Amino acid sequence: MSFFNSIRTPLHKTTGLLTFSSTKYQVRHLNLHEYQSKLLMDRFGVNTQKWRVINKASDAPKAASELTGELVVKAQVHAGGRGKGTFIETGFKGGVHLCKTGAEAQRLAGEMLNKHLVTKQTAAEGTLVQNVMIAESVDPKRELYFAILMDRKYGGPVIVASQKGGVDIEQVAEEDPAAIIKEPVDIVKGITDAQTKKLAEQLGFTGSKIADAQNQMKNLYQLFIKTDATQVEVNPFAETTDGKIYAMDAKINFDDNASFRQKEVFEMRDTAEEDPREVEATKYGLNYIGLDGNIGCMVNGAGLAMATMDIIKLYGGTPANFLDVGGGATEKTVTEAFKILTKDPRVKSILVNIFGGIMKCDVIAAGIVAACKQVGLKIPLVVRLEGTNVELGKKILQESGLNIVAANDLDDAAKKAVATL
Ligand code: ADP
Ligand code: MG
Repeated sequence: MSFFNSIRTPLHKTTGLLTFSSTKYQVRHLNLHEYQSKLLMDRFGVNTQKWRVINKASDAPKAASELTGELVVKAQVHAGGRGKGTFIETGFKGGVHLCKTGAEAQRLAGEMLNKHLVTKQTAAEGTLVQNVMIAESVDPKRELYFAILMDRKYGGPVIVASQKGGVDIEQVAEEDPAAIIKEPVDIVKGITDAQTKKLAEQLGFTGSKIADAQNQMKNLYQLFIKTDATQVEVNPFAETTDGKIYAMDAKINFDDNASFRQKEVFEMRDTAEEDPREVEATKYGLNYIGLDGNIGCMVNGAGLAMATMDIIKLYGGTPANFLDVGGGATEKTVTEAFKILTKDPRVKSILVNIFGGIMKCDVIAAGIVAACKQVGLKIPLVVRLEGTNVELGKKILQESGLNIVAANDLDDAAKKAVATL
C-alpha cells in the first residue's frame, strides 16, 4: 500500500486465503470531515478560507451572506477525490464547485445534499452527502501537495510533498515518482527550520514566501503531533495569486489509541459513513471487522480468528466477519458480540471457536447461552471450545437446552459450519 491510499481508501487487505473487502471505512484511524479538520487547523494557525457548513440547501444564501467574494461549494464526505466525483441519483458531476452568488450556492448544495457521491475512494454505491461546506474561494497560482504521515517504514513521521498537487497525487506517485519529496522527521527533535526551509524551496517558494511556507509547515506539524494524528494531508496546499498560502483541502486521521486524551477530536466522530456493525462493536471494545460472507465467527485472539476465517474459506464457506473477543472479555461483551452477529442479515450460521486461556470457556459458554436466550437464536450454531474450564463450558452449553452443534477441533468446526448452510 502506498502512502496515499493507506487510510483513505476502502479496506482491501489480503491475508492468506482470505481477502478482506469491506467497502466501509475502518475505525482504527478516526476520520474527520474537511470542515472538522479545518476547525483544528484554525486552532493551530494553519491558513484556511472562511467557511460555513449547511445541511439544507435553503440555508445557502444566509451562509453565503456571511462570506465575502466568490464561493466554493464542497460536499462533506470522508472520501477524497470529490472534485472528480459523480452523484449517483442524477449523474451530476463534481462534489466541488465554484460559484458567485448565494442563489447559485443554493442550487449547487441542492444538487449535492441527500444524494450519493461516488469518487475513486468510495464504494461503488457512493456516500450519502449530509453536509455541504460553502467557503470563500481563493485563486490558486500553484496547487501543491503537503502531507505528514506516521509511517512504519520510517519509524515515525515523514513529510510527503510535491509541486504537482491538486487532485490526483496517487497518479503523480505512479507516473512521476521523482516529483514526490519525502522528508522523515525525528519525532524527538521535531521538525527543524533547516528542514522546513529545504522543503519550502523544493516546493518552489521564493523570497519572503519561504518563511511563510515554513511557518505553515511548522503549524501543520504541531497539529499533527498535538492531536495524535496518523495523517495530515493538505491537497491542494496552495499559493494564491495574491501571495498567500492556504490549506485548501484538509484530510486528517487520528490514532484511535489516543482517543482517551483527544476527547474533543473523537467527539467529532461521524459514524454515518461507517459500517454500523463496527460502530456497535467499538462500543464494547470488540475487535470486529465486517465482511461480505455468511458465516459469523466469534473467536478469541487475532491469530486464531484469522486461522478460523482461513479454514472456513478452505472448506468452501465465507466468513461474515473478523471478530476477536479478546482476553478480557466478560459475559456481557460476549453477549453483545453475539447480538451483533445474529442481527446481521448476512449471517446464516455462527461458528464459535474459543481457546480458553485468560478468557475461560465457561464464561464464553455463559455468554452464548445468555445471548441466545435474549435474541432467540434461529440459525445454526457450531461451537468448538478448548482450554481452561472446557468441561464446565461444555456442560453449560449441554444443559442450556439450546440446539448447538458441538465440534471437536478447528477442522471439524469449520466443516460443520459450512455444512449447515
Ligand atoms: P477533493 O480532494 O476531495 O477533490 P478539494 O478540496 O481538493 O477536494 O477540491 C478539488 C479541487 O477544487 C482543488 O484541487 C481545487 O482546484 C478546487 N478548489 C477547492 N477549493 C477551492 C477554493 N476554495 N477555491 C478555488 N478552488 C478550489
Ligand atoms: Mg483535495
